[in-house]
Amino acid sequence: MRFYLTTPIYYVNSTPTIGHAYTTIAADIVVRHHRQRGDDTFFLTGVDEHADKVARVAAEQGLEPRAYADRIVGVWQELPRRVDATNDFFIRTSDDGHKAFVQDFLQRIRDNGRDDIYQDVYAGFYCVGCEAFKTEEELVDGKCPDHGTVPEWIEEKNWFFRLSAYQDRLLAIYDEQPDFVLPQFRYNEARSFIAGGLRDFSISRATQTWGVPIPWDPDQVAYVWADALVNYLSALRYAPGKDLERFWPAVHFLAKDILRFHCVYWPALLLAAGFEPPRQLFVHGYLTVDQRKISKSLGNAIDPLDLIDLYGVDAVRFWCARQVSFGQDGNVALDSFGERYDAELANDLGNLVSRTTAMIARYRGGRLTRSPGPGAFDAASLRETIVEQFDRYDITGALDSIWQAVRALNQHVEASAPWNLAKDEARSAELDAVLYDLADGIVAVAVALAPYLPETAPRILEALGQPVDVAIDRVAPGVAVEAEGIEPATPLFPRVDAAAPAA
Ligand SMILES: [Zn+2]
Repeated sequence: MRFYLTTPIYYVNSTPTIGHAYTTIAADIVVRHHRQRGDDTFFLTGVDEHADKVARVAAEQGLEPRAYADRIVGVWQELPRRVDATNDFFIRTSDDGHKAFVQDFLQRIRDNGRDDIYQDVYAGFYCVGCEAFKTEEELVDGKCPDHGTVPEWIEEKNWFFRLSAYQDRLLAIYDEQPDFVLPQFRYNEARSFIAGGLRDFSISRATQTWGVPIPWDPDQVAYVWADALVNYLSALRYAPGKDLERFWPAVHFLAKDILRFHCVYWPALLLAAGFEPPRQLFVHGYLTVDQRKISKSLGNAIDPLDLIDLYGVDAVRFWCARQVSFGQDGNVALDSFGERYDAELANDLGNLVSRTTAMIARYRGGRLTRSPGPGAFDAASLRETIVEQFDRYDITGALDSIWQAVRALNQHVEASAPWNLAKDEARSAELDAVLYDLADGIVAVAVALAPYLPETAPRILEALGQPVDVAIDRVAPGVAVEAEGIEPATPLFPRVDAAAPAA
């Protein structure tokens, strides 16, 4: 099966926060899982450089927008690398290949014979932070509720997209595909927005120069969303790799603040340009500190790279998937980071691997024999469960399922007390069965955890003398092979003494 997943492209007007790392990590976990299933995958992330706010930040620093973007793009390109994300391509909207495709895309809509693009005067309140017009009902005390700033009054002649003509076709998509948007409450939100009636929107700006020129009116540039959304398709045209267009349609991951653009505008633009709508959209919540959205502008940003330096990348990936149910909002307390690290990674998982390898070394001279017992948990049913959970992008639920298996393995150690069996020659076969069941269960768990813990999973498999192969069919009973030379494993998650960085 083909599986194409995207993150939103991030604005380069600031530097990455834990919120950006969160989306990127969640997407990477899902893509890695699909690779485990043998799917043909393509994973896209990147940056939006054409936003008006980028031009403004550049001007404040006395730079041309492109020079500013070139200077800051490095920290954004580093983000996927630092969180161990396996994106196939990193798109910049200033790429020539992207710009050419946007022009082609808009021209296709203009030429579709339905008069979907027309000229009109637009007047309204515009929030630069949102890159969107705001109705008066959306403002709180005259300010954008998300940014706390007074929007600007803009009045200019623009090119408009006839979104209103797409209401029925969009509703038909939603009705035919009840999981078009997930979670369900986001589907309901998007569908009721469409059902409430759609207003045409401006796809160009007359007063900006930083952007993609409208092909039939080069004095105007494409509105940032009419440019940015198209990245999901343009990348398939010019990213290195043969025949990438076979990957369309995509699954899009996004945070809830950009739901309307992705779940309403984007499918309509695609239909108008003659492309298939997205395959699916998953809308996740915010990680918050003190119930406020994490962003630099609110001054409570957490630098995700600080946490990685302190705890390692796998611990940050684990925490992002574990701490807040993916799709919901969740409040971040940094204390919870250290607590989970100690209790779950170091103790539940790390100790399990240390104890098991130490017992095989001590009682069996490092030799694992193939001697299955009853098993500590049902690995085949774990595989079925996590596959089903991943199909709903429930990375938190799947991790919980895996953790139940980790706990079952720990209970198996306590219940079978191998240290007592080792004292009794007559119970030697029993000891072999316990050690095999533990090693075999750990192999299944390590394979299941590989999308979450890409550095740790191979280390676990190596510590048990097993092939480093994380294909999902190895989440099954009896996969552990005989091995020799097993030594007590070094701690997978060593104690971290440093205090957590302040929020
Ligand atoms: Zn705003």
